[in-house]
Amino acid sequence: MSGRRIGILGLARSGRAAALLALSAGERVFASDAGASSAAVEAAEAIEMAGGEVELGGHTAERLAECELLVVSPGIPPTAPVLSDPRLAGVPRISELEFGFCHLRSPVIAVTGTNGKSTTTALAAHLLRAAGVHAVAAGNIGLALSEVALYEKAPDWVVVEASSFQLAGTESFAPRIGVVTNLSPDHLDRYASVEAYYADKARLFKNSTDESAWVLNGQDAAVLSLADAALGRRYLFRTRSRPARGELGAFIANGVLAMRLGSWDLPLLRADELRLLGEHNVANALAASLAAALAGAPVVAIRDGLRSFRGLEHRLEIVGEWDGVLWVNDSKATNVASTLVALRSVQRPLVLLLGGRHKGEPYTSMLPELRDRVRAVIAYGEAAPLIERDLNGAVRVERIDGSFEDVVEHASSLAHPGDAVLLSPACSSFDMFTGYEERGRRFKELARQVAEVRHGG
Ligand code: ADP
Repeated sequence: MSGRRIGILGLARSGRAAALLALSAGERVFASDAGASSAAVEAAEAIEMAGGEVELGGHTAERLAECELLVVSPGIPPTAPVLSDPRLAGVPRISELEFGFCHLRSPVIAVTGTNGKSTTTALAAHLLRAAGVHAVAAGNIGLALSEVALYEKAPDWVVVEASSFQLAGTESFAPRIGVVTNLSPDHLDRYASVEAYYADKARLFKNSTDESAWVLNGQDAAVLSLADAALGRRYLFRTRSRPARGELGAFIANGVLAMRLGSWDLPLLRADELRLLGEHNVANALAASLAAALAGAPVVAIRDGLRSFRGLEHRLEIVGEWDGVLWVNDSKATNVASTLVALRSVQRPLVLLLGGRHKGEPYTSMLPELRDRVRAVIAYGEAAPLIERDLNGAVRVERIDGSFEDVVEHASSLAHPGDAVLLSPACSSFDMFTGYEERGRRFKELARQVAEVRHGG
């Protein structure tokens, strides 16, 4: 058999897709996973059936060292011992993102940044679809780029959410359009310095050409300096000011979102027509609109798409409004910073559900946002005593030691018409749930039940 010998590290969804893509391209595959989860076993079967070799339950460095290229799945942490094994030092390695890109037959819009990547990615793909374009959202958002590269019919556009770890392993990755939402020191637990984190993000621009287009946060100096040396045109989005003279981009003025792609301002819609909450989501909407427009979507389609996009599940997701009470599921907010974003985004008096497994941060930093705004904080789960200790006295705290059902029922009994019940727990969910997704789904289910009982009664 001809073809290169490709080693695939990690056999979750991305690794499996990369292995099948390599085999379909005529390469030889040796795939290796340290675990033996049911997903990995299933992937192993599919890869072996397609003619590849697989090992589960550990990495044999000697065999990986025989490969000409290693493809590293996003699930493998940069600290995994196999990545620093000296026997593999001579084997070139790339991320699954790079591997998928090399085989892709569609142009790419890449979205990176510290926050808002998933929302902007999903929204840009949604806007293109509203324009009748076959667009797919891929990358970190859940669908591996290698999987898209295997599609029989190549999409017209692929919008890729690119994490810094995936970007770190790129060489030829060259999006036609690149979006940087914002940058703030993050992942410092996994990076030696802010500079190292930004350096990975900067790989987005590595293969820029005069034809590249960059959608950048015009209010974020770190984003602008990251793109400083890139070739191509720049389009800036701003939520707090109008474009500077001669600047192209998107902005909000008098509550209306608009784009400036030439001499004229093109109004899109009023911010209150978006089914998304918060200024940060206005920024995401402006960034996604620019990306879609640069990919050819007409303004009318962008307008329709902005009106119909409901946001991503568990991120300030509007569950519904019953008896004048708005229920919002922000279960993804597993730290204090995310809950602060939510508090700034929901303008109504609040019944706030805080709790779960404590992550070590004090809750006191929320007090300036909570005072005068909050009808009550409901403290629940393992962190309840700590939340009560940090907040009690400054705001009304009701501690519930019972089930999550009791928590939601109590929230409902405290909320007045005009209020919002917000689940933005600032804690992880693992004391009661398998993850934030289960917590969010349960919240929505219970909210609807409680609302039904109220309506019925
Ligand atoms: P990511 O994929 O980058 O994690 P998401 O779109 O999933 O981003 O949003 C996750 C959380 O990040 C949101 O619930 C919100 O708290 C915050 N967030 C989203 N967009 C922005 C933004 N543009 N600026 C600041 N924070 C944001």
